[in-house]
Amino acid sequence: MKDASLRARAVAALRGLARALLLACPLCGGRPVTERWVRVRPACPRCRLRLDRGEPDYWIGALLFNLIAAETLFAAGVLAVLLLTWPTPPWSALYWGSIVGMIVLPIVTYPITKLCWLAFDLVFRPSHPGDFAPAP
Ligand SMILES: [Zn+2]
Repeated sequence: MKDASLRARAVAALRGLARALLLACPLCGGRPVTERWVRVRPACPRCRLRLDRGEPDYWIGALLFNLIAAETLFAAGVLAVLLLTWPTPPWSALYWGSIVGMIVLPIVTYPITKLCWLAFDLVFRPSHPGDFAPAP
């Protein structure tokens, strides 16, 4: 009984994460949930879930996820270049590419990490009736 509940929650968490990676609502998969690349809509167009859950500082956790995603992608990229070009890595290209990457990667991953944060939050704080905006 307890294993089934845990398994169901794990499946729901993975489904929410997959939906977030596809820029969809982690709760229902509704789209579009972004207005411009860096801006998430106030509510999901399908299920009306308020995407900031009605909290003014809600996206602070998303900044942590953004930092982790950008740093992980950066490290993976540097490691891949080093492994593919060893023993003569292109140090100048790595230097300038790193600067560009550390500027571009947080912007590119920003909406995705916001929705991943929402998916993560929904695992630990499931939605309740107060999380939903009234129909327009
Ligand atoms: Zn939704």
